[in-house]
Amino acid sequence: MSSSDASPIAVPAAANVEDHPVRFLFENTFARLPEYFYVRLDPTPVAAPHLVKLNRELARSLALDPDELASPQGVEILAGNRVAEGAEPLALAYSGHQFGHFVPRLGDGRANLLGEVVGHDGVRYDIQLKGSGPTPFSRGGDGRAALGPVLREYIVSEAMAALGVPTTRALAAVTTGERVLRDTALPGAVLTRVAASHLRVGTFQYFAIRGDTEATRILADYAISRHYPEVAQATQPYKALLDGVIARQARLIAQWMLLGFIHGVMNTDNTSISGETIDYGPCAFMEAYHPATVFSSIDHGGRYAYGNQPRAALWNLARLAETLLPVMVGEAGSEEAAVAAANESLAAFEPQFEAARYSGLRLKLGLSTEHEGDSALAESLLQCMADNRADFTLTFRRLCDAAAGAEGDAGIRTRFADPAAYDTWAAQWRERLQKEPADQQARATAMRRVNPLFIPRNHLVEEALDAASRRQDFQPFEELLKVLSQPYEDRQDLERYAMPARPEESVLQTFCGT
Ligand code: AMP
Ligand code: MG
Repeated sequence: MSSSDASPIAVPAAANVEDHPVRFLFENTFARLPEYFYVRLDPTPVAAPHLVKLNRELARSLALDPDELASPQGVEILAGNRVAEGAEPLALAYSGHQFGHFVPRLGDGRANLLGEVVGHDGVRYDIQLKGSGPTPFSRGGDGRAALGPVLREYIVSEAMAALGVPTTRALAAVTTGERVLRDTALPGAVLTRVAASHLRVGTFQYFAIRGDTEATRILADYAISRHYPEVAQATQPYKALLDGVIARQARLIAQWMLLGFIHGVMNTDNTSISGETIDYGPCAFMEAYHPATVFSSIDHGGRYAYGNQPRAALWNLARLAETLLPVMVGEAGSEEAAVAAANESLAAFEPQFEAARYSGLRLKLGLSTEHEGDSALAESLLQCMADNRADFTLTFRRLCDAAAGAEGDAGIRTRFADPAAYDTWAAQWRERLQKEPADQQARATAMRRVNPLFIPRNHLVEEALDAASRRQDFQPFEELLKVLSQPYEDRQDLERYAMPARPEESVLQTFCGT
């Protein structure tokens, strides 16, 4: 320590703000790509920034100082009123198939990528403000976000992370002191989103539709170096990139299915190249199990219904494959060979998805070994749940108790419209468990690690958003976040958070709220 550090003279409080800059240590790579990949643009300042939530743990994992972020300067940065040192704000260009309809120019209409930081895990992350003002991609939109959807994304993305699902994260939420006009005037907010990157299938489509093969190659090389460095040495790196994205999406969608998660807007612009869940709009967790379940108010045809999600993902991946064909031709030798290679890659989606889903289902049922008939056993439970409107999450969670002893059956039977239907299935399950190692407690413990007790139930999410938006009461939001941070732990006095909505509380539709 130098002698001046030991000086007893206190630094005047007023000097603190300027003396403690908010350090982000930005190391930006996307901003080094050609200028036509984005538009350089600062966020638009807001009237009265107020921090409503900071994810301190996430901040620390990104080598950010939570106290700096919570300081007046930090909050100004999180609101877009000040540009942090080293940030190079930009709005990304991308296209997208929205509900099957192609829009050549979407792009960040209400977001600014500030830059990238490298976390303690060695991974590079985008720091993005969402709701930070209009951009050349706004297409008539106001560039803003309402508090409700910002908090919804905060809750659900953090819940997904705690559940172990690859996802973008929420670093902070600030209110703007401004109103945004939707059906009514709503409080405005800005979300700070953290993502492995914001590359989407739609980013590739943006260049493909323009016939810009050189840009596609630059983008593909960038995606490889950032997300799939191991494929750079492959004999056909672009096919290997496609294989990598397909493999991650297959695993991701299987995880969604195993948790009853419905994304709601699986457009190609919301399909991440890194394999993270991205863009939480009208998403929801299913309560009563049924494959046809849809929540999104804009999904009239059920295109993105729970049971259609694997098909929708494959459709999106086929669009990615099309964009890569021009660069795959070189490595494959001919156009026919490139098409054959792309089809071979796409054909791997279904078996990979099914394998991930099936091994997940076996774990959910407490089956550590594999036997003929396991798949049928799992499917028959799902069918029985669908026929009996059984709550997806609670059925599997209570199966953990039933695995520890038949006295646990009482808690499940009542979830089924016809409890005898469960009894019939449970008899087959118990017979199958005879072939498993005998330790019932160990089995129940293993099952509790994959069958969560707490998911962001829609009525609880709505209740939290409502209290925050209408009454500036953030207590329900805070409490819900806390419960969801340990989804697999049994905890006392939290039954309310584990139970499905009563009929009068039930949420049948979710809204984009954009
Ligand atoms: P999303 O539904 O959030 O995936 O957004 C789809 C597209 O609409 C993206 O290009 C967004 O940037 C754009 N968008 C959504 N809401 C707004 C808004 N309020 N103002 C401008 N652009 C928006
Ligand atoms: Mg989107």
